[in-house]
Amino acid sequence: MRDEILSFTHDLVAIPTENPPGSHYRPCVELISKKLVAMGLRPRLIRVHGGDKLHPRFCLMVPYGKGKKKLYFHGHYDVVPGWNSEQFKPRIRQGRFYGRGAADMKAGLAAMVYAIRALQLADVRIDGQICLVFVPDEETGGAFGTRYLFDKGYIGKDDCVGMLMPEPTGGVAWNACRGAISLSVSVKGKPVHVVLQKEGINAFEQMVVLSNALVKLKESVEKRTTRYSVALGESKNSILMLGGICRCGTNFNVVPGTCTFTIERRINPEENFANEKKRLMDILAKFRKGGMKISVEILQEGEPGGVSSSGDLADALGWSVRQTTNRPLRFKMCPGLLEIRYYLRNGIPAYAYGPGSIRRAHHPQEYVEVDRVLQCTTVYSLTALRMLSTGEHV
Ligand SMILES: [Zn+2]
Repeated sequence: MRDEILSFTHDLVAIPTENPPGSHYRPCVELISKKLVAMGLRPRLIRVHGGDKLHPRFCLMVPYGKGKKKLYFHGHYDVVPGWNSEQFKPRIRQGRFYGRGAADMKAGLAAMVYAIRALQLADVRIDGQICLVFVPDEETGGAFGTRYLFDKGYIGKDDCVGMLMPEPTGGVAWNACRGAISLSVSVKGKPVHVVLQKEGINAFEQMVVLSNALVKLKESVEKRTTRYSVALGESKNSILMLGGICRCGTNFNVVPGTCTFTIERRINPEENFANEKKRLMDILAKFRKGGMKISVEILQEGEPGGVSSSGDLADALGWSVRQTTNRPLRFKMCPGLLEIRYYLRNGIPAYAYGPGSIRRAHHPQEYVEVDRVLQCTTVYSLTALRMLSTGEHV
C-alpha cells in the first residue's frame, strides 16, 4: 500500500491547515471523510461550537469493527503555520517526505487509516472497535478539538482499552508528558523624567522585587525530579524559567512605566497542576495586595500526565514494534504538552508512537522518513490485532 499511503499523505499535507488561525479545516476533514467512505466506513462529522467564527472547527470520528471493546487511534490534522508556501507542496527526496505537517502528524494520520485498511484487506476479524478520531486545534491547546470531545461526551471511559496517537516520537513511545503554564506578567508603574524619579513609579525595580520571590520558588520546585525516563540531554527536574520575553521602559533616562516578562513553568507528571498553578498565582497575589499593579495573561496551560510502561496496551505496542523493527521499544516522557493527557485524566491508558522526530516537527525543513511511515502502519495494525484479538489469529 506504499503508493496509496504516500499519495494520501501528499493530499493531506497539500491542504494548509495552519493553526493559528485554523484555516482550511473543512476541505481537510472532507478529504479524510472521502477516504473513509471509500473504505466502506461511515464517519461522523462533528461541528465544534464556539471559538473563532471565521474559522469553524470540525472533528471526525469513525468506528471500525464490532464489539464492546474500544481502542482509539487519535490524531490531529492542524499544523503549525508554514515557513513559506513551498511547505505545502509536498515532495519526496532520498526516502524522505518533506512538507509542513509531514511529521506532525499527517503521515501518522495516513498510517492509522491504512492500518485499518490493512486489516480489511487481510480480512482479519477483530473483537471490538478501532475508533479513529481526527481533531483540530492540538497546536493551540485542544479546547476546540480533543477537550471538546471529552467535555461533550463523545469519548468516554466505558469499554475503552486505550489510545494510540501518532506524534513524531523518534522511535520511542511517550508514556508521559510535562504540563505547562506560560504566563505573561505586566507590572505597571508611572513614567517620568529620571530627574523627577521620586514622582514616578519604577516598574522595572518593582519587577526585580517580584522576580526575586519567583526565583525562590524556582529554587524549591527545581529540586524535584521525575521518575519517568527522559531523552538524552533533557532535564528530569521540574522547571520554572523567568524572562523568556522581557520588555521594559522607553529610554535610559525615563523611569520605566511598564515592565512585562514571561514565566514558563513546566510541571512534572508527579506534580499536581492545580497546586503548582496556585503557588505561582499566590505569589503574584501577595505582591498585588502589597500595592503592586500587576496584570497577568495566561499564554497557555495544560496538565501533566503519565502512565505505566507496562500493561496490556504498552505490552501490545512493544510486541508490535519488536515484530516490525526488530528492536525493543523504550518509553520516555514527552518534553512538551501532549494530548494523551486528556485520556489519562479520564483513566484511559494512552501512548504516543509515530513516524518522524520532534526535532523535525515545526521545522522549516519538516520531513518524515517514508520507511518509518510504513513501519508505523504495520505497528498500528498489529497493536490493534493484539488488543482486539478474537483468539483466532494472534
Ligand atoms: Zn502534533
